Formats: sequence, structure tokens, C-alpha cells
Amino acid sequence: MAIATIDPTTGETLRTFVPLDAGGIEAALARAAAAAARWRRMPFAERAGVLSRAADILDRDSERFGRLMALEMGKLLHAGVDEAKKCAVGCRYYAENGARFLASDVVEDDATAAAHESARVDYQPLGAVLAVMPWNFPFWQVIRFAAPALAAGNVALLKHASNVPQCALALAELFRRAGAPEGVFQTLLVGSDVVPRLIADPRVAAVTLTGSEAAGRSIAAEAGRNLKKTVLELGGSDPFIVMPSADLDRAVATAVQARVVNNGQSCIAAKRFIVADAIYDRFAPRFVAEMGALRTGHPTAADTELGPLATASIRDDLAAQVERSVAAGARLLTGGRPIDRRGFFYQPTVIADVPRAAPAYSEELFGPVASLYRVPDAESAIRLANDTTFGLGASVWTRDRAEAERFATEVDTGMVFVNGQVISDARFPFGGVKSSGHGRELSRVGIREFVNVKTVRMTGLD
Ligand code: NAP
Repeated sequence: MAIATIDPTTGETLRTFVPLDAGGIEAALARAAAAAARWRRMPFAERAGVLSRAADILDRDSERFGRLMALEMGKLLHAGVDEAKKCAVGCRYYAENGARFLASDVVEDDATAAAHESARVDYQPLGAVLAVMPWNFPFWQVIRFAAPALAAGNVALLKHASNVPQCALALAELFRRAGAPEGVFQTLLVGSDVVPRLIADPRVAAVTLTGSEAAGRSIAAEAGRNLKKTVLELGGSDPFIVMPSADLDRAVATAVQARVVNNGQSCIAAKRFIVADAIYDRFAPRFVAEMGALRTGHPTAADTELGPLATASIRDDLAAQVERSVAAGARLLTGGRPIDRRGFFYQPTVIADVPRAAPAYSEELFGPVASLYRVPDAESAIRLANDTTFGLGASVWTRDRAEAERFATEVDTGMVFVNGQVISDARFPFGGVKSSGHGRELSRVGIREFVNVKTVRMTGLD
């Protein structure tokens, strides 16, 4: 895949980039190794200082960063500005809490005390972490890996998606301006064919991927061959479950937002709308009408509600999935085709009566396409919600506390939100189960993914 900025509103190639050659890659790895040796020894406060300054820049330049995201992958401008500001929050979160999360745990019991032993668990950095990242949240995906990883004393090598090279370079520039020493955060403009070589390099300690299931399988296999630690944040086909006691107005409004967030291209977007029979006929017509009424347009126009898809292949893959689903028996309620204009626009779409054989039942649909399902009761809703290889997030709408607890326990995902949209938040672990990946980002748990959890026991000292 060429490393290039292609305007998703026109399909025009605006800039192309020459990938790093073998010499450039070697130099970057050498810089990362040298930086890792120094960065880990720096006092935490100095590392936190870099993150705090990065946060200030993210806030200050949020409009510029938002425009870059709109340009390269079609994100609505206000959403890009918000994304940059969210990155600032993430950086500050680890600047302020990282030292506490990384503090040694002292293990004390009567036996160690009597023997004048000391025992503790330390959290030490691993070294250089390779981050293979997607284009859909081109700043936030990177920061939510980098802020905790750098705070813990690791250094970062970013291989960003090939369609967001200017965002990738802006991130390297961000850390340089924030005062990160040379080699602490590097962007490598390389294709995915280089990833196996990077994983195999002894100077790379671990790898994290946010991306598709296919990329996850390939990177996990390569990391396995080289016995490197991985965190995998992969796809999702999140259920949005509406039970009879739900607040209908809020459920409908949130359902639309949860499906079209980021022009429909979010791993935690709600994709399967599972609605109890008793409320289906009140929910479905409103949901379909509101989806169909969304204003599509240029991502920087103030009144646009739905921008373009990021690339031609995403639009074409989505169109093919919808066509095959309809051919398999799904019923089209609104939309269903690319919009007849330049660029990669696709109609907001709702399908219903989706049979098990349809792609929409089992695959992730990465665009503004919702699948509606009617179920008799909570038992069937849970069964359908879990009848997927994915397990990222779930949103459940009910006012019944016992029912809410049942969904929280029985829905097999990494995150369950009751009466709310699934979102990422620096304070909470983020990640999935099953084919949605493994490991967690964010919170205390996230900073401990790329550390050596070291047992230190001492005895016989003066
Ligand atoms: P993708 O094709 O997997 O690309 C993601 C990154 O992986 C890119 O940098 C890509 O490089 C690289 N890549 C692709 N195939 C690779 C391979 N075989 N070996 C090594 N690297 C490889 O993903 P996408 O379709 O652009 O992004 C959307 C996917 O990401 C969706 O499935 C979405 O659900 C998932 N996602 C998950 C999360 C989460 O937190 N769970 C968050 C956001 C997105 P190139 O661009 O050079 O191909």
C-alpha cells in the first residue's frame, strides 16, 4: 500500500511519501536502543514533564491536528479537535498517575519480617515497543499506547497506517516539541511488509497492534515465533441491546450516534441492534428514520453529520458486504449503496431480518451500516449478542437493575455500558476478548502491559 495522503472527499492523491529504506530503519532501531537505555533511568518526573508538555501542545494545536485528520481520513472536524483534546487528557493522566501505578508493591508477612527479609514487586520498562496503528483514530490510538508506555520508561517505534502519514509525522513532531530526547518516540514511514523484520529485531522488545483481525493473526504469529509480548486491539461487532423498560428517546438518539461515530468506522461502534419484541415496533421506525435523515457532507462543514469513509477499499468492501447480506435475505430499510458523488461516501444504512449466513451477521461492518434484530426476551438477546467471534464492547438499555446486572455478567465482552454508549476513557481498562484481541490499554492495567513485573526478595543484608 502506498504511503500517501488521499483526500477521501475527492479521491485525489495530495502527497506521497518515500518509505524508509533499510539504512533508515537500521538507524531508527539504533536510536531507539540508545534512547531506551537512557530514558528508563530518567526520574519519572522528567518523563512526566514530556507528557505534560505534549498535552499542552495537543490542546493548543487541536484545531490544526483536527484539520489534518479531516484531510487524511475524513473525520468530522469537531471530532478531530475533540480527539486531540482527549489525547491531552490521556497524556496528563499518565503524567499525574504514572508514578503511583509503577510504584513497587511491598509484600510483607510475618515470616519475612521475622527473617529480616524484604520482598517486593517492581515494574520496570521492557525497552523499545513497536506500535502498529490504524488510521481511524489517528492520534488517540497512538497516544493511548504511547502515554503509558513512555511513562513506564519504554520508547516507541510507530508504524502508522499508510493513509495517515502526515498524522504520523505530526505525532513524532509533537513529542520532539514536548522535549522527548532523540529516539524516545519515532515514526517509521514503512509498509506493513516491514513489520515482521521489526518484530524479529532483538532491539524491539514487544509489539502492540490496533487493527483488523487479519493483521492481528499475522502479527501475533510473528511475535510468537520471536517470543515477543503482544497487546492486540482488534475488531468488534458490538451489540446495542434495547429492552422493554429502556428510555426510548435516549436509546434511539444514542443508537444513531453509536453507529455513526467516526463516520461508522470505530471498533466500538454499535453494529448489531438487538431489540426486544415489546419495544421493537417503537424503536425501529424512529431509528431507521433518524439514520436515513443524517446529513452527509464535507468533514469540515459545520452542519455535516456523516463524512466520507477513509479509503476507496473500505467503501467498496462495505458495499460488497451489504450487497451479499441482502442477497442472503437481509431486508434493506434505508440506504444500501455508495453515494453518487466524488469521494468515498456511503449512505447511512439499516438492514433487518439478517440471516445467520449473511456477512452482516458474522463480520465487522466498518461504516454507517446497522443491523436490526428482533428478539423475544433477555435470554435470546444475550444468546444473540454472544453469537459472534468478537467480544469488544456492549451497550445495554434497560431500567431494570437485575436485568442490567445479568447482562453485565453474561455478555462476553471486555466492556459493558448500561444506558450509555461504549467509549474509551483513560481511567478504565480498554480491550476485548475472543477475536477482538487480548491485553488492555488505559488505566493502571494499561501501563503494566509493557513492563517487566520483577520479583525482588532480599535477605542476609547488613
Ligand atoms: P488494518 O488493515 O489491520 O491496519 C492497521 C495497521 O496494521 C496499519 O498500520 C496497517 O498497515 C497494519 N497492517 C495491516 N496488515 C498487516 C499485516 N499483515 N502485518 C503487519 N501490519 C499490518 O486495519 P484497518 O482496517 O485499517 O483498521 C480498522 C480495523 O481496526 C477494524 O477492524 C477496527 O475494528 C480495528 N480497530 C480496533 C480498535 C480496538 O481498540 N480494538 C480500535 C480501532 C480500530 P498499512 O496501513 O500499511 O496496511
